[in-house]
Amino acid sequence: MTIPEQQSTYFDFAKPLTPRSKLYAASSWGRFLLLLLLIISINNGNGCTSKSPATTAPSFSSTGSTLPVSNDITVSANNIQILAGQAEPFTAFYTDPNTQAVTDITSQVNWLISDTTIGHFLLEPLAAGLLQTLKGGSAMVTAEYNGFASNPLSITTIYPSTAGTLLITEVSDCYYSNVPCWVEVYNSSATPADLALYQLKTSGFNSDTSNWPYNITFPLPHLTIMPGSYARIAGNDNGTRANDISTVYIRNAQNYYPYWDGAADIAELIYNGATADYVEWGATPTALAPTSATGWSGANAPSYSTSAASAGSILGSSLARNAFNTDTNTAADWSAKTFATPLGPNDVTSNVDADLDGIPDSSEASGSTFAGLDLYAWGARAGVKDIFIEIDYMDSIDEGIIPRKEALDNVVALYAANGYTAHIDTGNLFDAPAGINPLLHDLGGGNRVPYSAFIDMSAPASSSNSFYNYKYKYMDLKRLPVFHYVLMADQDLAQASWGLGEVLGNDISITMGSSGLNSTSTFDLNQLINLQASTLFHELGHNLGLLHGGNDQINYKPNYVSTMNYLYTMGLPQMGTASEADRYYYENFSSSQPCGKTYSQVLNNPSTTTFVMNYSHGTNPAINETAVLETIGLSGTAGTGADYNCDGIISQTAYLRNLNPMGDNLSSSILNDFNDWAAVTLLFYQNASAQDINNPSTYAINLSSDNQVKAAEAPADFRLRDFTRRDRISRPKSFF
Ligand SMILES: [Zn+2]
Repeated sequence: MTIPEQQSTYFDFAKPLTPRSKLYAASSWGRFLLLLLLIISINNGNGCTSKSPATTAPSFSSTGSTLPVSNDITVSANNIQILAGQAEPFTAFYTDPNTQAVTDITSQVNWLISDTTIGHFLLEPLAAGLLQTLKGGSAMVTAEYNGFASNPLSITTIYPSTAGTLLITEVSDCYYSNVPCWVEVYNSSATPADLALYQLKTSGFNSDTSNWPYNITFPLPHLTIMPGSYARIAGNDNGTRANDISTVYIRNAQNYYPYWDGAADIAELIYNGATADYVEWGATPTALAPTSATGWSGANAPSYSTSAASAGSILGSSLARNAFNTDTNTAADWSAKTFATPLGPNDVTSNVDADLDGIPDSSEASGSTFAGLDLYAWGARAGVKDIFIEIDYMDSIDEGIIPRKEALDNVVALYAANGYTAHIDTGNLFDAPAGINPLLHDLGGGNRVPYSAFIDMSAPASSSNSFYNYKYKYMDLKRLPVFHYVLMADQDLAQASWGLGEVLGNDISITMGSSGLNSTSTFDLNQLINLQASTLFHELGHNLGLLHGGNDQINYKPNYVSTMNYLYTMGLPQMGTASEADRYYYENFSSSQPCGKTYSQVLNNPSTTTFVMNYSHGTNPAINETAVLETIGLSGTAGTGADYNCDGIISQTAYLRNLNPMGDNLSSSILNDFNDWAAVTLLFYQNASAQDINNPSTYAINLSSDNQVKAAEAPADFRLRDFTRRDRISRPKSFF
């Protein structure tokens, strides 16, 4: 049967509610709720390195009368205010009350955080001597020293809640009612801002009643926003989204969540019953006005993100305050943008993306930035199709987990040969000196991350082994609209595949650990490099919109010569030669049969330096399984021949045969090649809704629900694992 592309989690997006009176498409909800989603963001934008303000300066003190006295331990930290997004260097010393001997116990101190909204939980062990991130506003932090066997010491400090000065700086597209719409806020003051001291007023939608009134005032949860930093307030459209370090998902007691009208609406932050900030756009409906009369004057900001001929043309757009965050309470501060810059400054100066790489051309020019990121320094250029890829990799001695430079170089070279410039960021893995070095795949962002035996790409980010837990923790989330994120890990929790990639998305997990991959011999080294490159190239293909049959999901088509095809993950054959069917023989017949091939007899197999991978250019003719003609082989070239039924002779007459038994059970298919390269799209963020080749409206990408449909990879990719472990002796036959 056909290996499905995870059809069970496909969903249709609700139609936009324009005009407002239209009913919500409730039928789509059940399917949508199948998605476990999450989050986004963070940001210590510009200016967050400033010292904490003097208003928040409680020192550590002891608690609990039964505990040892506080002066036994001295804890000092560089920055007393411990806030979201900050790592806090600290030291702890224990002074023995009898001998006065002083011992550094920093590595033995655990930190507990209490917060009225998130409860009490234990932070990660402080292996690096760093205090981890504290979420929330007013919070209690306890340093707990476990050096006393029966009586741990706790040192507690309370961090007060301050209001700062919050501005609304960006309002996202708000088209689909079951995709979170977000408002970006910026703390323009020198004092941390506790979001819970504010309220957000805008339109709200109730999916049960389909009511969509203006002017709902939403309470907000704690989130500490550092001076000069950004955060987002997003709609909790399905009720299951979890807050993360810089985005909160809200829904009120009446089950309304923020969902506004791009044609005409408002967003307002209210503090102490007065307008803290306000923006109004589009035509002016009645009853829209700031809480405080001084909150807005003059004409409205432009409408934006309204219904369009194609929803894709507005996804990723926003209404944005200018790059300087000027606040005159007038339309002069605002403009409609094609390219949103969530969690970073609104520094994009053009809406043009002539090279169609999803990055505005103006952000690919020298001296420009995108959300504060210097993409030009990292290699982006106008007129070039740029693909940015951050690769984080787990800390391990398993060579299957650590990126090989040769593999990355091969992938980059292959894209280059086809008109695309791939920029891979593995941080300092191949470039130890400080600073970036694009040629050595160092854009300053890739990370070696803590090891976990299993990674779960379906779990929400709140789960410790969630793919998204890693992504949101280690990636600079200002990169979200631009970068593909790859996590190289040991094994996948849900399935035994080597890779999992979103179709038309931006996320990839590669799980080639515990597979026996190594570099001991030349044979092993070549295999490691080639299979790693092939897996990355395959999963990137999914991100760029390709399926296992190119534009269909029919796997193992012999004439679809693409790394997307499982038949060719062990390399592409030499088409037009007598060996063009060697992978077909290898996959479908034992080596004892007339046509059979052993692994080493497969030309350019992964253990060689002549291994070939590519996406297809679609030049092979279709094969009709009801009239298979052996004389013209896979490529349609007379004289090459393919002994499809493995009877030892090239039949001169056509016959019926299922040529891809591992792909489907059908013997009457038309098997088509496909021009992959002509179909790839880089617009995962801007334009990926409704662009699926077979299923318009099936996919939609929205970076406030950063979890798109994955291409199913199990169990067939598992073959690779068996094949590298054992197949050098005999090829496994258990997959038929
Ligand atoms: Zn795949």
